[in-house]
Amino acid sequence: MAEKVRVRFAPSPTGWLHLGNARTAIFNYLFARHHGGEVVLRIEDTDRERSKKEYEEALLEDLRWLGVEWDEGPDKGGPYGPYRQSERLEIYRKYAQKLLESGHAYRCFCTPEELEAERERAKREGRPYRYSGKCRHLSPEEVERYLKEGRPYTIRFRVPDGRELVLNDLVKGEVRFNVDDFGDFVIVRSDGTPVYNFVVVVDDALMKITHVIRGEDHLSNTFKQMLIYEALGFPMPKFAHLPIILGEDRSKLSKRHGAVSVRQYRFDGYLPEALFNFLTLLGWYPKDGKEILSKEELIERFDITDVHNAPAVFNREKLYWMNGVYIREVLDLDDLTDRVLEYLRNYSEHLDAEDRKVAEKILDFPREFVREVVSKVRDSFFTLKEFPKRAKPFFVDDFEPSEEARKHLQKVGTETARKVVELFLEKVRSAETFGGEEFKKLAKEVAKELKLKPGVVFKTLRVALTGETQGVALDLLVDLIGKERTVGRLESFLARLK
Ligand code: GLU
Repeated sequence: MAEKVRVRFAPSPTGWLHLGNARTAIFNYLFARHHGGEVVLRIEDTDRERSKKEYEEALLEDLRWLGVEWDEGPDKGGPYGPYRQSERLEIYRKYAQKLLESGHAYRCFCTPEELEAERERAKREGRPYRYSGKCRHLSPEEVERYLKEGRPYTIRFRVPDGRELVLNDLVKGEVRFNVDDFGDFVIVRSDGTPVYNFVVVVDDALMKITHVIRGEDHLSNTFKQMLIYEALGFPMPKFAHLPIILGEDRSKLSKRHGAVSVRQYRFDGYLPEALFNFLTLLGWYPKDGKEILSKEELIERFDITDVHNAPAVFNREKLYWMNGVYIREVLDLDDLTDRVLEYLRNYSEHLDAEDRKVAEKILDFPREFVREVVSKVRDSFFTLKEFPKRAKPFFVDDFEPSEEARKHLQKVGTETARKVVELFLEKVRSAETFGGEEFKKLAKEVAKELKLKPGVVFKTLRVALTGETQGVALDLLVDLIGKERTVGRLESFLARLK
């Protein structure tokens, strides 16, 4: 590619960053970095009603968290700013004027009632509505008069008759479109605010964007925009329309399918690297089939022309699995420990009450101990949010036995359970050293001496030490909690039995 690649991600700050938009941002980023190009972040806030400052801040924060980087934007500035559309209104006014002067646009004085009547008529006659073009032919004198009378007006783009446009999309291939269907569309509303299809062209051209990569839902907008590029004499960028994302029931991904915002996944304990990696596989697939890829590997492999021209299906289970892979295999232990601690410190409001208590306890332990626990249980939790549940036995010495634990005790009988634990406790007390190895050895001795099945002994000890009938390997547990805490737990258990 001869010219320097410049792409943009242009979210509207009207809500939290949606997974679909996050994927668009990621594909733009990978494409630009692959070609040594630049990324522009532009905030499209011309819809003053729905745009909110806090959403803009949230978008930036979520993008940063996800690991998408940009070179120019409202927070960084750059040579083609401002990067917030609400600060570019003067620029749009100038280009609207230009289009009026060249005759590519005209003022439309039709009232909302007149337009409504047109719409009604189309409906009655069973044809799709498009503006009649009534104001297309107003004479300059008429326009002058209406302006003097202070009549409100919109500015419409004069769509050429009978034009078929051909788009060579980098993903969809050749797409043809007859623009007659549009009718003359509004580019500036009667309150003076410019419309998306118009401002996006002005911005993309002035910001020297070479490739417009966005969701397929914008395809018909692209044809309107192509007309405006032509009318303003701007060079046309290349376009790539990304496939829509469907839920597993094959309907468009929405809240009905569960969490759809990046932020919600962060709150649910997902790792940004895993989500980033996962989103790249929605519509694109590496040629060699390797699915777990770092950002660097993705940058190297990503090719926009390999993006599929077919809907991508969002598989939540796969994301969950992938997050588990990152926890088990990808992050190094120190990094993972820091992520766990950061999650517990900053996101505990997303835990249930029980886990929150555990989280508080965990945070009282030295980092070194937490790190040891993480190393022992990292194959048993798939999200950071699950850590307190999986790791609880390492941190909590006083617990209530679970329903299953109670049932187990009933089954073996209180007396037998007491004997098991008393004998085991005696052995632990007199053991010179005590760790995982000794634990197994002593438990087996107890089984032998009391003529019980080893399974019964182990389960009873598990209930005594954790209040549960299943969970972490006990030798790993006692290895970490050590003799003193083991003895303490066994004593409390016996006290409870009384
Ligand atoms: N603000 C538009 C959106 O969020 C951007 C579309 C585009 O990339 O042109 O959908």
